[in-house]
Amino acid sequence: MILARGGSALDAVKVAVCLLEDDPLFNAGRGSVANADGLVEMDAGIMDGATLDVGAVACVRFLYNPVEAAHAMLREPPVLLVGAGAEAFAKSRGIPEAREGLRPSMPGGRDHDTVGCVARDRKGHVAAATSTGGLAGTLAGRVGDAPLPGCGFYAEDGIGAVSLSGDGEAIARTLLAARVMRALETAAASAAAGAIFDPMTRLAAEAGVILLDREGRVGIAHNSPHFAAAYVGEGMEPVSGLVWKENNGR
Ligand code: ASP
Repeated sequence: MILARGGSALDAVKVAVCLLEDDPLFNAGRGSVANADGLVEMDAGIMDGATLDVGAVACVRFLYNPVEAAHAMLREPPVLLVGAGAEAFAKSRGIPEAREGLRPSMPGGRDHDTVGCVARDRKGHVAAATSTGGLAGTLAGRVGDAPLPGCGFYAEDGIGAVSLSGDGEAIARTLLAARVMRALETAAASAAAGAIFDPMTRLAAEAGVILLDREGRVGIAHNSPHFAAAYVGEGMEPVSGLVWKENNGR
């Protein structure tokens, strides 16, 4: 709706990710999994492809919508704030806080339901955002790929926008978003999405990617058994609840 009304890609990805963070079905915001201490620690990042501004927060416990705090950081000098510093910044911007840390939705529960969104607006600007409760049972203080530009997300006008989910350490070690962006410079959207397969196979890891190229063409790929995605374009009926099978590297 934001894009159909002529709004910005940046607003569209922020609002879409906020909605997904509010849905306990996903491992982000209210649906976040527990770490080894039984606590929720969340990471989120957002990028404006027009300006290359990045905002990200990591290891936050008291925010319902980490992506909102990341969005508020976009025009600030720091790229990434963590823990209490990120929460204090969010508070200073009037972003709602949970008094107690968020409760894990399914203690000891699921992995790999991180949320993300990429968008291109009518002006041709692109944006990307990713938000996660991380991997269940990891050490307290662990930060994954989701708040790291070039790893869990990236956006640059004239190239495209990318958001990833999967094994955060493998995604960070291979700079997976950066690899997909590089592929997007020369390959079609669907082929560029396949840039995740070799590095993930090499590290015996799983990942899934959603992307848009500079023209707004969609690419989706994953080597995980399942990967849910949805998309809509100008004049299209929304394609939703899609479990993407094409391009599956397995
Ligand atoms: N990539 C996220 C992380 O490692 C987890 C996920 O995508 O489910 O924190």
